[in-house]
Amino acid sequence: MTVPKADILVIDDTPENLNLLSSMLSDRGYKVRSVTKGSTAIRGAQTMPPDLILLDVNMPQMNGYEVCEHLKADDRTRDIPIIFISALETVSDKVKAFQAGGVDYITKPFQIEEVLARIETHLTLRQLQNQLRSQNEQLQQEIRERKHAEEKFAAIFRQSPNPIAIVTIPEGRFIEVNFSFLSMSGYTLDAVIGYSIAQLHLGHDSATFLSRLQTDEPIHNLEFELLTRSGSVKSILLSLDRIEINGATYALLIANDITERKRLENEFISLVSHELRTPLTSMMGSLDLLSTGQLGSLTDQGQQVLNIGVKNAERLIRLINDILDLERIRSGKITMSKQSCNLAELMAQATEEMQSMADRSCIQLITEPLPILLHADPDRIVQTLTNLLSNAIKFSEAQAIVWMHAQPLTLNNKTSSVRISVTDQGRGIPANQLQTIFERFQQVDASDARQKGGTGLGLAICRNIIEQHHGKIWAESTISKGSTFHIELPLNVVL
Ligand code: ADP
Repeated sequence: MTVPKADILVIDDTPENLNLLSSMLSDRGYKVRSVTKGSTAIRGAQTMPPDLILLDVNMPQMNGYEVCEHLKADDRTRDIPIIFISALETVSDKVKAFQAGGVDYITKPFQIEEVLARIETHLTLRQLQNQLRSQNEQLQQEIRERKHAEEKFAAIFRQSPNPIAIVTIPEGRFIEVNFSFLSMSGYTLDAVIGYSIAQLHLGHDSATFLSRLQTDEPIHNLEFELLTRSGSVKSILLSLDRIEINGATYALLIANDITERKRLENEFISLVSHELRTPLTSMMGSLDLLSTGQLGSLTDQGQQVLNIGVKNAERLIRLINDILDLERIRSGKITMSKQSCNLAELMAQATEEMQSMADRSCIQLITEPLPILLHADPDRIVQTLTNLLSNAIKFSEAQAIVWMHAQPLTLNNKTSSVRISVTDQGRGIPANQLQTIFERFQQVDASDARQKGGTGLGLAICRNIIEQHHGKIWAESTISKGSTFHIELPLNVVL
């Protein structure tokens, strides 16, 4: 292989040798500089280092070994490969040449092909060496940058006021947590590392959260109720991203403690609601009085305006009642009055309540009641079922079917719980909103409240009721095909 344009410095005090080597190398495409004196060669090499040097041993004033030692002592020329050419052929001459720093030794008279082969070998070796060196430097640089990034991450991790944890996927086992996490959860480091979210009972929603850990979607600001070590509940917003550590993928959880913010928010909402309810009720009374005609009859237009007023006042009252209801269930001010009841009757009652709405919307309501005994608050379960049926009807087109059925679930050959499902053929719910719709004021479409008359609180109330019964509620959906809301309630347990 000919390395084009490699720059070769040839040093020989015999002009014939010099000419022979120079023309032979030039013919092969090398760039050749030739000098007859060692001192001139050193200066030339320092000013413009060549890729390789061919060096005669026997020269007057400064011999080849001395020239080589000079070049090897200088940083600018140290790495240039030097091949000796000499008529001396004893072993000690060769050893001396290698000791001085030469890479090879060719004895005169030389074969042109041999010289060329050796030059090419050493040029290739040098090129590979340079490549290795620059790759090594690049690697070192990458290591430095990575170390720097790791140090930065570690500092942010340690000092962040946000609780942060790194957990395994899919088990959710803690491998690292920061100080803020420990102070929020009340656990010591030893009590957390190596244990999983489920083992530590960090929240009623842990199972749902763990199932999301297994999907590929990142999580942003998911509301999560964290159970601290002392048993108190903290509201946190949880974000999840995946990170690679030593080739394995982990979940990086960053929390935002919003307990205090939520407390103030709840206080504010409940205060405002109480304050609004009295004047609104009185306003409703006035509107009712107007509509009875006792204060004089209204024009058609006046009646229309009055109807709009009544509709909006009713919506506001519904909203305020929902807010207060949710607030009372959440704060435990309303306890569920649980008793033995027949699920079939509750399903029938909810269907009866929703029948007229279904008829108005031309929806066929099919219910398959399941006679099974529950220990539950019947009014609250009916409230939950009617809410689900009402949503199913609201978000379906005319002529569609809404179907409610239930099935017993067995564990170890014993019926342990019951699953009630409400299925519709409506517009469906986007996958990324299947969980958030159970939060307060969360609606898939901002116009839902106005157009469908909802408050965005129904599902939050349902979830609270079901949780008070130690059950769970969730939704499955396919866009444009329909949704199914499932409720699972434990049986045979007097809780
Ligand atoms: P709303 O009073 O608005 O119905 P909910 O809490 O009951 O409040 O429901 C929240 C939102 O979830 C609704 O506004 C709607 O966007 C969506 N949703 C609930 N049920 C269904 C359903 N069966 N089909 C489609 N979307 C639904």
